[in-house]
Amino acid sequence: SPIIFWFRRDLRLSDHPALRAAVETGRPIIPVFIHDGVSQQLGSAPKWRLGLGLEVFGQSLSEIGSRLILRRGDALEHLQGLVSETGATAVYWSRAYDPASIARDSKIKSTLSKQGVQTKSFAGHLLFEPWTVGTKTGQPFRVFTPMWRSVQGRDVPTPDMSPSRLPVPENWPASDELTDWHLGVAMNRGAQIVCPHVQPGEQAARDHIDGFLERICTYSSNRDRLDLNGTSNLSEYLSLGEIGPRSVWHMVQRAALMGVNGTENYLRQLVWREFAYHLMYHNPQLLTGNWRPGWNNFPWNTDPDHPDVIAWKQARTGIPVVDAGLREMYVTGRMHNRARMIVASYLTKHLMTHWKIGMQWFEDCLIDWDPAANAMGWQWVAGSGPDASPFFRIFNPHTQQERFDPNAAYLRRWIAEGQQNPSDTARAYFDATPRSWGLRPDMAYPSPIVELSEGRNRALAAYEGLKNQ
Ligand code: FAD
Repeated sequence: SPIIFWFRRDLRLSDHPALRAAVETGRPIIPVFIHDGVSQQLGSAPKWRLGLGLEVFGQSLSEIGSRLILRRGDALEHLQGLVSETGATAVYWSRAYDPASIARDSKIKSTLSKQGVQTKSFAGHLLFEPWTVGTKTGQPFRVFTPMWRSVQGRDVPTPDMSPSRLPVPENWPASDELTDWHLGVAMNRGAQIVCPHVQPGEQAARDHIDGFLERICTYSSNRDRLDLNGTSNLSEYLSLGEIGPRSVWHMVQRAALMGVNGTENYLRQLVWREFAYHLMYHNPQLLTGNWRPGWNNFPWNTDPDHPDVIAWKQARTGIPVVDAGLREMYVTGRMHNRARMIVASYLTKHLMTHWKIGMQWFEDCLIDWDPAANAMGWQWVAGSGPDASPFFRIFNPHTQQERFDPNAAYLRRWIAEGQQNPSDTARAYFDATPRSWGLRPDMAYPSPIVELSEGRNRALAAYEGLKNQ
């Protein structure tokens, strides 16, 4: 009898423990993706990127003689329906670690098991599942460096190759058409993001890391530079599971064995991703509230319609490097890590706005959106998170720009105002924003909505107030 293989954020064929287990049974496999409550809640850009990923993944399955069945609606109902339509007796999937997916998967597991359907879940999204690492006293980690030290020398299972064929069922169940889901059109922003650069899929991810490995030796020196292509840009592939972290780990380790520099620093960043999942799994409130409850009394602005927030979202704060980062994200769905820290620091400190407002905007705009990394990143910058940057360390955007964009190339790439011949990217921002924002490239660049020293002093005074409570 067939196995229903439920793909979620694991849109790949290699380095896939769950798929390998299904193939090893020798039984027919019915690959399914269900656009359910969890994926329907994705923000605009991640939903758009999911659509691209599903299209390419469907083609990859066809190339090995299979196909991707698409269903929309409640996952349990669809899985039950598919079981009765196809005579399948098992459902396999890769584990997810966010609270919404865990709740859904547990309910599905218990209901299907009671109905005599075997359910099996597997690792694959992480290098180390959250419960397999801990402090010497068996507690979850709350600080990054000890976690990094504890996993650094661990064995990571060697990833499997992709299967050359998938055994197929006698009859295929009905499938939706991907185009009917309107994943791209569902973007509630003004225009489609301008992303000719996005190359979805597993093969593209592999090509991408091959290219990056040729320049990983400059990772340590260039990774913070806003103007250079110094990082791997792998996050969107990892987020959708178009590449597995074990593959990345092993490819980088092979480079290390050949004596290439920069590899350890890179693996350390990959473990930051693991740390985020570790924190979220053990304390799901990472996603919803201040990790340190003392921050509940901080006088954050919590109004999403506050003019400062609108100016920040529209990338018209009058602080060029902040606006450049936000425009980069709006146009491409990506933002450099250094820029993420700068714009987040500016929102939470100079504008004293709650990190959740920024987190939600990123959720809507980033094609690499990841619940754990996004929440951890915001709480880290805001100072409310575990192992966070102290609040009083307030980034000065000008100093940051001078250090990490010394020739102002990043600013020229994204800020059109005041330039004789703005670059295509800088102009693209004005094409991408909705008409209701009323933005034009020939407008004057705005004055700062809050002067840096004024914002900084206000934030520090509020912080002193919090400490004295
Ligand atoms: P590289 O420097 O090449 O790093 C390699 C990989 O390591 C990344 O692909 C990513 O998987 C992981 N990684 C690197 N830095 C971090 C980090 N600080 N935290 C967790 N994982 C990390 N990352 C996301 O994937 N999705 C998000 O939604 C997200 N939101 C963020 C929000 C804020 C406020 C901040 C400060 C950071 C956020 N990050 C997020 C982390 C980081 O900015 C991105 O992972 C990184 O910019 C992706 O680019 P890259 O693949 O070129 O990174």
